[in-house]
Amino acid sequence: MSDKTIFKKIVDKEIPADVVYEDDLCLAFRDVAPQAPVHVLVIPKTTSLRSLDDVTADAQSLIGHIFVVIQKLARELGIAESGYRVVSNCGENACQTVAHLHFHLLGGRGFAWPPG
Ligand code: AMP
Repeated sequence: MSDKTIFKKIVDKEIPADVVYEDDLCLAFRDVAPQAPVHVLVIPKTTSLRSLDDVTADAQSLIGHIFVVIQKLARELGIAESGYRVVSNCGENACQTVAHLHFHLLGGRGFAWPPG
């Protein structure tokens, strides 16, 4: 039985996704249950990072790269001017459901603070 996460299956093209960006290091695709008019998930292709809690100094350039991609996507998807939110749920209390590091890019509506 495969122990791949759903996101690794998307990286490996075993299941479909609405991909909006891809390069050697990361992949971005639309969330299947969008919480805002724009809701994209940006993930590293590596499976070595299950959450932000696994990030070490070795991953600094990868994480920096992902944030540059997030900024580029926010511009391309038309939410940079109005504003957007980037979220990474880490662990049980934060409601993380997929054990593969991912960043939610959300925009196209106003958000409340603090989050629920
Ligand atoms: P989190 O709760 O932070 O772990 O976020 C996981 C996200 O993955 C949720 O917003 C889900 O809607 C999303 N998701 C789960 N399966 C898929 C899929 N096959 N394609 C796109 N998004 C997915």
